Amino acid sequence: MNKPEKDQASVPVVLFVGAHPDDIEIGAGGTIAKLAGSGWDVWYCVLTSEYDIAVAQQRKGEAQNAALALGIKPERVILLDLPDAHLEATGDTVAQLRGVLENHKVSPDIVFTHTLADSHNDHRAVHNIVLSTFRKKPILSFAVVNSLIQSEFRPKVFVEVGQYKNVKQESLMRHVSQSTRIDEKAIENINKAFSTDLGLDETEPFEVILQEGAEDLLYLVLSLNDCPFHNFWYPLLREQPLVVIHSVPVYRKNIHYGWTANKEQEGIELLYETFAKMWHDRHPVISKSSVNPSAEGYLQTSNILLCGSSASNQFIINHFNNFNGIRYRTEHSMPDYTNLAIKDLASSKRIAAHYEKDDSGNYIVTKDFGILTVMRNPIHETKSLIGCMGIHGFGTFGCLRAICERGPLKELLPFIDFPLRSIGIQVLVEYDIRNDVIEIDGKSLHMISP
Ligand SMILES: [Zn+2]
Repeated sequence: MNKPEKDQASVPVVLFVGAHPDDIEIGAGGTIAKLAGSGWDVWYCVLTSEYDIAVAQQRKGEAQNAALALGIKPERVILLDLPDAHLEATGDTVAQLRGVLENHKVSPDIVFTHTLADSHNDHRAVHNIVLSTFRKKPILSFAVVNSLIQSEFRPKVFVEVGQYKNVKQESLMRHVSQSTRIDEKAIENINKAFSTDLGLDETEPFEVILQEGAEDLLYLVLSLNDCPFHNFWYPLLREQPLVVIHSVPVYRKNIHYGWTANKEQEGIELLYETFAKMWHDRHPVISKSSVNPSAEGYLQTSNILLCGSSASNQFIINHFNNFNGIRYRTEHSMPDYTNLAIKDLASSKRIAAHYEKDDSGNYIVTKDFGILTVMRNPIHETKSLIGCMGIHGFGTFGCLRAICERGPLKELLPFIDFPLRSIGIQVLVEYDIRNDVIEIDGKSLHMISP
């Protein structure tokens, strides 16, 4: 079988599977309209129908009409007749779904279906049937507001659908028999609830399930996502924790800089708060000091964020600076931790911070630089290693801000080829302290290779 590659020009195939007519439109109508409008090959499949034949026929007609409103051609609407309210994920139901898809020659790149955070038995059964049917495809789960268990719903992909509001409304109205059940206000409210914190207008939220073997299609999932924060962090963390190994400020004799030592800590707090707001989940950030004896164990087992410089974090010297293929590293002289700088190994140039003397004769740092590294962890290939390494805490802070804020993340994302096919990247971040402005220096971009 051919692995789909990013540069392959074929049209992506996407399948939506729901339990009942109207579920798909409620959870993902705007996304369907958007994908169909972008030329994706969209399929629509409802698994159950009602016992009463006349009612079942009516609802099938409504489903076809509703799908048509979203831009799905009738020959791409598949309606199975599994029993409504008694659906189970069994070998038999999985075989029936497989069979009907084979008959239609549908081989989707992404499958959308119900979330498991749902109290309706049929919805949960469809979720499990889809997981068993498509073991090596990315699954995106949508929310049907009527039975959603919101506290358990953990979306990581958000599709902006403000533009498709009217189309979605039209498709919902075509389920004439369900007019008392479909609560458009409730649907809008739930979508807005997940969008506001992201700084987006109105989105349809989706959980992501990447079963083993689905990795090569992750780029397609990310191409749907309109939230830069999740597009950066989801491929790095999935549903796992992020262990921040932070630095310990070092004492430097005879040098009096007029700044606080806790700028790095401010950046870590920003990261923590941003995750608390955005991740819709238990908080993934765990912080460990680089002098804590347990820190080394984390490096080998977890997704790591390495903070500080060679002077203040022993892991940066012992591990990071020795990795093959990196271009930028922090350096310092001993004794007294002087001559802090970034070394560009490609040009052998040293990059130093900018300083000015204040009235009391203290050196003030006015501009600092940081190395932002995003890579697979060479010590543990399936985990990620992110480096926020500044000459001083300000550079570290600049890097931390760059991976929290929408603007810098949007600049950064095109550089990274998730799921980190080329091991990773390094890029320099400049922090203008007086004006409190961070800038990513695109010209410094380095693709890490072994
Ligand atoms: Zn339903």
